[in-house]
Order: sequence, then C-alpha cells, then structure tokens
Amino acid sequence: MPLTVVPTPIGNLEDITLRALRTLREADTIACEDTRRTGRLLAHYEIKRPLVSYHEHNEERLAPELAERARAEKVALVSDAGTPLVSDPGYRLVRACIEAGVEVEVLPGPSAAMTALVASGLPVDAAVFLGFLPRKGRERAVLLDRMRREASTFVIYESPHRLVKTLKELPLETPVAVCRELTKLHEEVFRGTAGEAAAHFAEGVRGEVVLVIRGGTAEQPVDFEEVVERARGYVAQGESPSRAAARAAKESGRKRGEIYERLVKA
Ligand code: SAM
Repeated sequence: MPLTVVPTPIGNLEDITLRALRTLREADTIACEDTRRTGRLLAHYEIKRPLVSYHEHNEERLAPELAERARAEKVALVSDAGTPLVSDPGYRLVRACIEAGVEVEVLPGPSAAMTALVASGLPVDAAVFLGFLPRKGRERAVLLDRMRREASTFVIYESPHRLVKTLKELPLETPVAVCRELTKLHEEVFRGTAGEAAAHFAEGVRGEVVLVIRGGTAEQPVDFEEVVERARGYVAQGESPSRAAARAAKESGRKRGEIYERLVKA
C-alpha cells in the first residue's frame, strides 16, 4: 500500500482533482496538519475518514510510525492548503517511507508557488522556489544578493506584513509580481517594478501573498544618471539620502560618495 500525497485547494474549493477525491474517500487514514480544517474540507465533499494530526511539532516522532502504517493500509497525506511538503510538513514522512521501502505516490495538484509563477508574466524557463525567506541575518542577505545577480525567476512565500520591506530591499527597477489571495474572491496580481509594488502596497496588504521576482537586474549595466535616479527613488520611498546612496552604490558598483553628492546637490 502506498503513502499518497494529496494536494488540496489553495482557496477555491473546486480546485481538487477527481483522483484526489477518490484517494481521500478510499484512505484508511488521512494525515493532516489541522484536523478541524481538513475536517471542514472533507465535510464539503461528504467524505468521512479517520484523521491523524501530523504537523511540524510531531512530524519527527510520527513519521516512522505513519510510514509503517502505510505499509499495511492506505495512508493519504494532506496539508492545510496546496501541496504538502511545499513549505508544509511531509518531507520527513516521505523520507521515512523511502527508507522503509514503502511506495510513495504523489498526485499533481494546486500549489500557490506554481500558480503565482505562471500568473506572474515573468520568464518561467529558469525558476527558483525559495519558500519563506529568513527574516533577517546573513542567510537573508545572501539570498537577496543572489536575486539581484542571478537571471532566474524567484518565487517566495511572503507574509503580508513583510512584503513591503522585502520589496524595498530589491533594486528599484526589479520586475516583480505580487500574487495575492490566488483563486479566492479578492485575487489580485500586481505586475510592475519593485518600486511600483512597494508604493502600491504601502498602505498595507491583506491575505496570502506570493512574491515573484525577476532576478539578475543588478547585473545590467546602468549609467550614472540611472543610478542617481534610482537613489532618488529610494529617497522618495522614505530612505535617508545617505542610505539611498549606499544602496544604489551597492547595486550598481558606482561610488557611494559621488551618488550622495549628486543627490544632496539636487
Ligand atoms: N503548501 C502550500 C502550497 O503548495 O501552496 C503552501 C503552504 S505555506 C505554509 C503558506 C503560504 O503559501 C502563504 O503564506 C502564502 O505565501 C502562500 N499561499 C498559500 N495560498 C495562497 C493563495 N491562495 N494566494 C497567495 N498565496 C498563497
């Protein structure tokens, strides 16, 4: 008997496959993050199967036990929304099954990351999924730097409270798409530059957000006038001239002092 990984809707309840519904209906056990939440989803489809709570706090302990159970009976794994394992619990269970020689079957289905990437209008040929960025520290700085330099499309799960902060840490002209409340009533896809998006969402953002970023913009050659213009943009966003000059200098390779001088002279 396999462990079956079953994606569930990220908003619109119609986004579930026939195969996913059949798998859930036939499961002996459904492992889920939150039994109440999955209970509501199952009630909507009139499915009644035993639920086991499997979440980030007990997954290490439960994974081997659930893998053994999947050897003898049908175990389905779901998360609160979207595809399990994708910034959600499940990785340890899949590993435990692989190590125990238990078959793992994965159903294709909804994921906010893939939906946002396709909706973004940004190139999809080379895409990098980063999940949630670290909130601060060196690891975050390294990833932001990578996004400035690497010509790939980056997909990030972002908390609505941190969206504007992250946008302001990108070069002003970076092409981005902010995908909010996908498949839900208030779905919004904002496409523009990081500067435009920061201004658009300056008043606050609600709901769930995926930020899609076209990387590699810091690699483009920029002339001095453009660099100064960029620094002016940072000042307009509320940064001090000295911080704006430092940021534009870092992004462009031009001297901080000369940018600062032009900024304050103007
Ligand atoms: N496993 C899920 C998936 O496959 O999409 C992601 C789970 S992760 C804990 C939750 C994050 O996914 C949210 O903070 C948000 O960034 C993103 N997300 C989930 N549903 C979304 C939606 N309907 N619209 C936009 N972003 C969404």
